[in-house]
Amino acid sequence: METAESVKCSICDADITEGVILGFEKTDNYDILMCDNCCQEYDTLKTNRLKGRYLSNYQKCLYLALKHQLSELDVYFEWADKDVLGKVLKTVDIAIPSAKLYIEVNGAQHVENCEQLRSDLWRSYYSFNAGFLTLSVFNDAIKSVEEFYQIVGFLVDIAHAMEKRSKSIASQKRE
Ligand SMILES: [Zn+2]
Repeated sequence: METAESVKCSICDADITEGVILGFEKTDNYDILMCDNCCQEYDTLKTNRLKGRYLSNYQKCLYLALKHQLSELDVYFEWADKDVLGKVLKTVDIAIPSAKLYIEVNGAQHVENCEQLRSDLWRSYYSFNAGFLTLSVFNDAIKSVEEFYQIVGFLVDIAHAMEKRSKSIASQKRE
């Protein structure tokens, strides 16, 4: 028997039978529908502040979507980037170390505040020296769930390309 209308999870694309609709905060532009499994995972990230850092819904949803679509790679949330002595230099919103890729999910304050901009530029340069590409995703540019999917797909393609690239660099070094 066919169901009246099939609703898909915005994160993992599973059919939602008894799904929960998770609305974004009122300043945000769209709703994310999540299946029960994704809701449970989302709940484990629920805290909005961690050691003084604000964790947005955008960051959490983007992380979950990338983790599902890049299941063959390790995707990390709130990744501590450390120097050789183990000192934490910065915390990265989303990191995919095997692809040498850092993703920062930013709100408007990143373009309004010069001090923040200066620090971001320095951090990106520092990461680049360590071989990592930093991409910034600006929340406010994403206006619908379709656009959310587009950005996720784009980041997935970049992660695959970056992983290939870093594997080939590693094999060249061995030769
Ligand atoms: Zn799901």
